[in-house]
Amino acid sequence: MIRFQSSPKFDKPATIILLDKGQTHKKAFNVITNAVLRDAVKAVIDAGQFHGEERETFPLIVNNKVVLLVGAGEAGKTNMTALRGIVRQAALSSAFKKINDIEVVPHSRDEQAVIAIIEGILIGTYSWDKYRKAPEKTLRPIEKNYILAVAAKKEYEDAVITCQGVSLTRNLINENADISTSDFLEATILGLVRGKKNVAVEILNKKEMKAKGLNLHLAVNQGSPKEPKLIIVKYTGAGKGKGYTAIVGKGITFDTGGLNLKPTGHMETMRSDMSGAAAVIGTLKNALALNLKTNIIFVTAIAENCIGSLAFKPGDVFRGYNGKTVEILNTDAEGRLVLADALAYVEKNYKPSRFIDLATLTGACVIALGYDYSGLVSNDDELAKDVLAAASETDDRAWRLPSYSEIKDYVKSEIADLKNVGLPKGAGGAITAAEFLRSFVNDTPWAHLDIAGTSFVDGKGRFYYGHGATGSGVRLLTAFLKNKE
Ligand SMILES: [Zn+2]
Repeated sequence: MIRFQSSPKFDKPATIILLDKGQTHKKAFNVITNAVLRDAVKAVIDAGQFHGEERETFPLIVNNKVVLLVGAGEAGKTNMTALRGIVRQAALSSAFKKINDIEVVPHSRDEQAVIAIIEGILIGTYSWDKYRKAPEKTLRPIEKNYILAVAAKKEYEDAVITCQGVSLTRNLINENADISTSDFLEATILGLVRGKKNVAVEILNKKEMKAKGLNLHLAVNQGSPKEPKLIIVKYTGAGKGKGYTAIVGKGITFDTGGLNLKPTGHMETMRSDMSGAAAVIGTLKNALALNLKTNIIFVTAIAENCIGSLAFKPGDVFRGYNGKTVEILNTDAEGRLVLADALAYVEKNYKPSRFIDLATLTGACVIALGYDYSGLVSNDDELAKDVLAAASETDDRAWRLPSYSEIKDYVKSEIADLKNVGLPKGAGGAITAAEFLRSFVNDTPWAHLDIAGTSFVDGKGRFYYGHGATGSGVRLLTAFLKNKE
């Protein structure tokens, strides 16, 4: 939890003081009003023990309180991604293990820097520890009280709220696949919208999908005993006359690959194959909490890709909601199938002004861009520009990949209108997958974010994220939607 207070008080059992390089003395003395603490810090600096270098830390005990000096790097040149990591590292310091109230004194009042500090705390200290032994009597780092010595303002309060949406998304992804099911996601969504007046919900289960012909979505879920779901939340924040932005998330609650089974080494993190849907749900939470004055359609396309005698089979052809037929050449290319029906259904029945879909769609996108940038493909330059602006504003990064008319030949089938794979050997797999989706959208401006690389950290950590789900897409979408107000 974060609270704000306009100036430092040094009355908490612990204090983090961020200081930048070069101006260390001057800054320290401006900021530190407590004389005893100021002398202690001066002694450390005079002794050459602390210079304010990026990530440099120095712990002190002053009046029985723990003080951690933390270097923020060259004054005025702080890299905001690095700053989030610096704050994360400080907040997770073993010096604070048994302390629940920590004052944080920023090195700068620059708005971007303060937001980076907020995110460094709330995104940086998140960890999925539900299944670990509870630590003795202290709060988890993210639950501690951080008192930020800076005057409250709307941008900061909004940043705190946005991070709560990010945490929800991360929890939904990190949770066991047999807990975070279609029913669980539905209950989560209904819990968020309960009692809200400007919200209408439509839920398609297996029965309704059959009646309406969402056969691509149904095919993917065929081998699962769980209910497939297309959940649509129509949020009217700006009045009925205005256009709607539809955000559509891929929600494969577990992806075995289907009969084209994934090998060991590729399946262990596949509960994260619903990261797109989880990002849509986190953004829904944010839109409601921020009371966004814009119209939004939140769409989650949820299924489970299982093996077994009922599972859909390579070589079979299914007819999608919009009438196009698809030859299944790889059951592991299932995300595009559920999304295809979702895009077609929402376009026809809701007529949104623009689409943004998010999906852990292709390993090819990870090969192309790695783990730090989501892949963006769009049929509309204006929309792409707005998505990239929101991405760079929030450090929820995206990089645009090409979409061009000739690429449509690569998803044509010999026996159906389309096939669910692209070129041999996976060449250009991220953009051919995107092209498959594009062919289920008519004239609506559409942007697709492939978050396969960015949504999950499998290992020790990256940037300011620990192991597990990152919540990628939530900050980007929230900023994009705010910019549409
Ligand atoms: Zn798959």
